[in-house]
Amino acid sequence: MHWRKLFIVAAVAVGLMVSAPHAIAKTDVLFGGASIVGVYYQVALQISNIMNKKMGDTYNFIGRPTGGSVFNINAMIRETFDFGVAQSDRNYQAYNGLADWEGKAVKNLRSVFSMHPETVMLVTRKDTGIKKVEDIKGKRVNIGNPGSGQRFNAEEVLKIYGIDKDNDINAEGLQQHEASRALVDRKIDAFFYTVGNPSAAIEEPAQSVDIVMIPLDHEGIQCLAGEKPYYVYTKIPAGTYNGVDYDVPTYAVTATVISHEKVSEKIVYDMVKTVFDNLDDLKASHAAFRHLDPKKMLEGCSAPFHPGAVKYYKEKGWM
Ligand code: GLU
Repeated sequence: MHWRKLFIVAAVAVGLMVSAPHAIAKTDVLFGGASIVGVYYQVALQISNIMNKKMGDTYNFIGRPTGGSVFNINAMIRETFDFGVAQSDRNYQAYNGLADWEGKAVKNLRSVFSMHPETVMLVTRKDTGIKKVEDIKGKRVNIGNPGSGQRFNAEEVLKIYGIDKDNDINAEGLQQHEASRALVDRKIDAFFYTVGNPSAAIEEPAQSVDIVMIPLDHEGIQCLAGEKPYYVYTKIPAGTYNGVDYDVPTYAVTATVISHEKVSEKIVYDMVKTVFDNLDDLKASHAAFRHLDPKKMLEGCSAPFHPGAVKYYKEKGWM
């Protein structure tokens, strides 16, 4: 009987060998988002959905939650992700060797396209009594996990308002999904977050507690927005979040899709072409993507474009 078993084993092995090339012919493509309550994760997921729907024979796109902009840029340095999302200011700093990348410019970083604007926000509960930035002194405030983009913005705002993060506040470094929860549970008094609107990170707490969004209108912020190419002075329109029926002045960055030098021209070209060919699907997939405009999606990218993106933009006559 043994020969029979052997025959079956051999037949299965041959079968596997024949079918294996089909099973592994798909290329896995890793796309880094950020916290699950943010918008980056939606960028990674929704683009992955479109790619798997339109080019699923060739690619297996996987959208992953990550620590945020800094984590994603560092994942490009290590080449552990193929695509990621990062704030335009963090992208600029990385490519030019500033801030977290002081003296170690990320020269393999490549831009793909810009997505939605992200506003810098300071969110609190009504019962904390915090009405202006100065009121956060002595309070527990989340400034963002170290891998996030918002941490730099929070530190920048604190500096402009003359608040020392080590002595004047109890600074927390929670991931955003923890921070949103902690605000509702009264474990923190406020959080800084730089994110596209609307974001679940603010929508969800706004459903359970009365929230207040603090204006970031110091003239230092207006100057900053005038000086830096990647900032704009703007406002979050009244009604964006439950209970916030006033405009909130602040400044904004742009979420950009990034890649690195080693990702093949074909993968980037296929992704860029598929996204632009199906832009209406992407726009409909999340409220923060509603205003995506192809003309603006080539603006605000600080690192050089990836050659795969350049190929598509030249074909379209956009470059
Ligand atoms: N801007 C945040 C960061 O860079 C992420 C926001 C989001 O997840 O949408 O970490």
